[in-house]
Amino acid sequence: PGVFAVANHHFSVASESSWKHRTSLRVPNLVGGSFVDSQSSEFIDVINPATQEVVSQIPLTTDKEFKSAVSAAKEAYPSWRNTPITTRQRVMLKFQELIRKNMDKLALSVTTEQGKTLKDAQGDVFRGLEVVEHACGMATLQMGEYVSNVSNGIDTYSIREPLGVCAGICPFNFPAMIPLWMFPVAVTCGNTFVLKPSEKDPGAFMMLAELAMEAGLPDGVLNIVHGTHDVVNAICDDDDIRAISFVGSNPAGMHIYARASAKGKRVQSNMGAKNHGVVMPDANIDSTINALVAAGFGAAGQRCMALSTVVFVGDSKPWEEKLLERAKALKVSAGTEPDADLGPVISKQAKERVRRLVQSGVDSGAKLLLDGRDIVVPGYEKGNFVGPTILSDVTPDMECYKEEIFGPVLICMQANSLDEAIKIVNKNQYGNGAAIFTTSGVAARKFQTEIEAGQVGINVPIPVPLPFFSFTGSKASFAGDLNFYGKAGVQFYTQIKTVTQQWKDLPGGSGVSLAMPTSQ
Ligand code: NAD
Repeated sequence: PGVFAVANHHFSVASESSWKHRTSLRVPNLVGGSFVDSQSSEFIDVINPATQEVVSQIPLTTDKEFKSAVSAAKEAYPSWRNTPITTRQRVMLKFQELIRKNMDKLALSVTTEQGKTLKDAQGDVFRGLEVVEHACGMATLQMGEYVSNVSNGIDTYSIREPLGVCAGICPFNFPAMIPLWMFPVAVTCGNTFVLKPSEKDPGAFMMLAELAMEAGLPDGVLNIVHGTHDVVNAICDDDDIRAISFVGSNPAGMHIYARASAKGKRVQSNMGAKNHGVVMPDANIDSTINALVAAGFGAAGQRCMALSTVVFVGDSKPWEEKLLERAKALKVSAGTEPDADLGPVISKQAKERVRRLVQSGVDSGAKLLLDGRDIVVPGYEKGNFVGPTILSDVTPDMECYKEEIFGPVLICMQANSLDEAIKIVNKNQYGNGAAIFTTSGVAARKFQTEIEAGQVGINVPIPVPLPFFSFTGSKASFAGDLNFYGKAGVQFYTQIKTVTQQWKDLPGGSGVSLAMPTSQ
């Protein structure tokens, strides 16, 4: 079996492909079905955020290497697009089986490089696996339309065809799920793909790519290039790449959106968030507090759908006391520790940023109900840990409210009515998700109708849709018009060809008409 070195653990990957017996920490690119070492002289360390151990190193792929990956994808395209859809689906069917078999290894890689708990890492893999399962039904998803006899003896039909070479650029926070939002849909539609994983945690995706090839994905259909800004810019500029899927922060996403669309590419860009939970006075106390703690502090707040802000309608104090009690009981430790509730944040810089934003809240008058900034985790003293932190009496003008914190920090606000709460949420620049906690159907329906967010939860804190729906951000959380996965995802990775056919015995001698044809 292939050996992939992760810190002190050496574990194997199920396939017999070319990246076996590696002992080097350097992570190869994947070009035309081969794992190839980059000739770059520049590498970035992939660091275990709980220990600071160097897990691996990714290369800053050179321009020549990037071009060879795109060429491999371009070369693989004609025969892959002509491969029967049933065969392409079967590759996904096998792929989902292999992901299930390798779930523990994949989750361990996620935890080692990203920091989240093993259980949460399994969820990361599982939510991606569901997209692979969905891609197994691509023949139905990709169906065109047919109208018979649009004019006498003439029929029109549309075909959803693949685009060609597509690319994906991924963030660090879901190293398995987000790559799986992208390439399974793209390639099952008949496209070929170049993916750039996050430079912070490429390991899980390397394993997934190997499993996809073991499942039968032909050489060149999926390629991997590592790097940061330069390779991303090269993706935006490349004339052979037709579409880009991006997930990450707003500065990167808007840059990529502008640069790639200026080249005529399709772009879907999922970006930052500030997700609000509105708590009505009639909400079920116990389940609401559980939901707020889980969605605020789970994955150390590093989910784009984390509920980072709570707006209590009415008196917030009794709620805050309960929140505090439950948040204090959470165990912060390395994600590999079985009793850990939350792990570290991704980097020292991320920790510093969280600390700074919390302090800015305090400086502008917020009350620090729980301060996790100076937590020390026994056995993991070097880890980038931040304990659960709660700021109350926060107002919309504060920097800690306006900025995405992306750490285990829950911000508490207060509103006098549901109308006022909705106004606060709608004024925020982001619109990824929003949730209401209530026992009133009237309040829930009003919230659902008036709230400006892509994903709405009603007594559901993290309403990430399953793949038969799409992941739908709004306002500054999304740029583009076709969302990730679901029907929109298939539309994103396909273009429509409309065919008008005429099969009838044409009467001779009717003359030539130069008028615009109309239905007869
Ligand atoms: P990031 O923007 O720093 O990095 C994402 C990718 O873009 C990486 O591959 C990185 O190499 C590249 N990149 C970063 N800056 C770039 C630049 N200036 N030019 C070109 N490429 C650049 O994001 P991150 O820190 O990895 O991820 C966290 C962010 O992602 C948060 O804002 C979070 O809300 C967001 N996110 C959003 C969703 C969603 O679906 N809306 C899902 C997950 C994460």
